[in-house]
Amino acid sequence: MDPLAHPIVSRFRLHRIHYKQMRYHAERFNHREVCGIVSGINGVSIRVFEIKNWANSPTRFLMEPTEQLKVFQHLERVKQHILAIYHSHPNQPSFPSTIDIQEAYYPNALNLIWSQINGYWMCQAYYIRNRKIKEIPIKII
Ligand SMILES: [Zn+2]
Repeated sequence: MDPLAHPIVSRFRLHRIHYKQMRYHAERFNHREVCGIVSGINGVSIRVFEIKNWANSPTRFLMEPTEQLKVFQHLERVKQHILAIYHSHPNQPSFPSTIDIQEAYYPNALNLIWSQINGYWMCQAYYIRNRKIKEIPIKII
């Protein structure tokens, strides 16, 4: 089973515990981008994997390749999909950046982007396919 073959969804159902885990991850490194993977089945989150940002930058992320490969292999074993790839924008709005659009290598994975609004970390989810951006509503469950 291909972990990258999650079907396109019209709504992202995100468990509150996963929402809080990612928010805490973004908060802990609020001077640079953080990143990771949300696994899931049928649009519902199952687990959050925090991955080191290899780029170590406030304006871009690059998942550390060895950690990323381990997560991909794990998901293949447990037959789960990559529902979303998340990262944070410490100093920019949550809308995908030019680099995010250029480097959207996984068209079936949602791009979940965290940003600060009036000091609160919030997230929005987008599909980026053929350089087109579509926002997908998130429902916290
Ligand atoms: Zn970004």
